Amino acid sequence: MPDNAMTMVVTEPRGPLHPEAAGIVAPQAGWVRVSVVASGVCNADIGTAAATGENTAFPVTPGHEVAGVIAETGDDVEGWAVGDRVAVGWFGGSCGRCPHCRTGDVVHCAERKIPGRSYPGGWAQNITVPADALARIPDGLDLFDAAPFGCAAVTAFNAIRKAGIRAGGRVAVFGIGGLGHLAVQFAAALGYETVAIARGGDRE
Ligand SMILES: [Zn+2]
Ligand SMILES: [Zn+2]
Repeated sequence: MPDNAMTMVVTEPRGPLHPEAAGIVAPQAGWVRVSVVASGVCNADIGTAAATGENTAFPVTPGHEVAGVIAETGDDVEGWAVGDRVAVGWFGGSCGRCPHCRTGDVVHCAERKIPGRSYPGGWAQNITVPADALARIPDGLDLFDAAPFGCAAVTAFNAIRKAGIRAGGRVAVFGIGGLGHLAVQFAAALGYETVAIARGGDRE
């Protein structure tokens, strides 16, 4: 195992992003270290770099659309092993005990963590996260395709899944950007008549 790995950091609000060698620290109990293969770029990362969000203290390493392979597990981690293919998204862990957590609404936990804000994020060769932040990536899914599922894709997917659309219904997606292009694909794959509406010709 190498002694350190490269991490991208921003050292002041809205400051430039630059690479830094970071020491590899063994994960604490209940946490795992993931060797990062792919990491997406989300608009919310700009907020992390500008310190407009919660829990931001500098320096920060943004990045919350992460796909990689578990490199090391801390004590008391069950159900995950070195070599497992995993994703980490905006949801970076929760308390597991509060009323929100007990009803499965983990994203509204008052102790909910966010990669890049609560701890160093995924614009790095390694990210260390609570094991409950992990999602397993199926064998057939490429890690580069899987990374944006952690934020952009789950946002678009849940918007469609929870919209109460009838079978055979019509879905119109306004704006074909980072989320919209995923929404179009989800809506079509779910069998809806899908209409994509883009402004301007640059994304035809
Ligand atoms: Zn995001
Ligand atoms: Zn909770």
